[in-house]
Amino acid sequence: MTRQTTERGYAKINLHLDMTGRMANGYHRVETVMQTVSLYDEVTVTLTEDGTLCASCAITGVPTDEKNIAVRAAALFLGRIGASEGVRIHIEKQIPMAAGMAGGSADAAATLRCLNRLYGEPLTVAELCELGATLGADVPFCIMGGTAYADGRGDRLHPFPAMPDCHIVCACEGEGVSTPWAYRLLDSLYDNFEEGGSYRPVDTDGLKQALTCGTLTEIARSLYNIFETPILRERPVAAELRSLLLENGAVGAMMSGSGPSVFGLFDSECAAENAAEALRQKGYRPYLCRPIVPYETK
Ligand code: ATP
Repeated sequence: MTRQTTERGYAKINLHLDMTGRMANGYHRVETVMQTVSLYDEVTVTLTEDGTLCASCAITGVPTDEKNIAVRAAALFLGRIGASEGVRIHIEKQIPMAAGMAGGSADAAATLRCLNRLYGEPLTVAELCELGATLGADVPFCIMGGTAYADGRGDRLHPFPAMPDCHIVCACEGEGVSTPWAYRLLDSLYDNFEEGGSYRPVDTDGLKQALTCGTLTEIARSLYNIFETPILRERPVAAELRSLLLENGAVGAMMSGSGPSVFGLFDSECAAENAAEALRQKGYRPYLCRPIVPYETK
């Protein structure tokens, strides 16, 4: 049996992110449209004889024990199929951390895909998604990839028109955002999304229409993220990056997830390169990428 395999764990951006209320269990009811982009972590999974689970990563702050979501994914997978091998996970990280681009979820998804391959595909993709959802709301999307609408906690996926090809510049600087803190900030702003609260969700009809037959300008006009207002207020660097992307030719720009990463959409590679260079001139580190459909299995 092969003992080692490698998978890319791709980042996502949110083209739409909104809250439509609260569920009985207290979770916010999320409505989102996610898109896989070509920025990725490379995840290498090795089966070992020693029965232990661990991770390695050269980036400071990435946990190497069971606090790493990829290690938790491995534990879950082994438990599910009743295997007792040890697993070593090496992560070559490029996705910025605590950025709203699902870096950890991408690593967990890649780990699940690697393990499923190493053990001869004992689980279907749907079963991997079910397992992944217990680790985090973004994990099922990271397993499937492409363009998807999600509701529930953001973990129930539904097909959505695919994003046409374009050029994307992502950027993330300064202090990261913890997702629970971002939700607390939202709650302080919008009546906790309880019945009768004053917040009115934005629908995804415009985005759907724009993705189906619109121009990049129409897609850009339909971007929405409820977290933008409160988070950009708290993270002025992210607000500056968003402005810089727009000043330097982005057709549209928006924060991804609960931030503080921001992305700009460009209709040519040259325009994206120019904007990336403008960000570099200011000392920032831009990531050039494109929307992708990473896996054939749907
Ligand atoms: P999401 O968009 O899914 O909410 P994120 O991109 O905002 O995720 P992550 O990069 O997943 O956030 O990191 C959040 C925290 O999770 C980090 O601060 C880190 O302590 C912890 N963590 C655990 N495992 C990983 C991992 N494999 N990669 C990065 N961070 C991880």
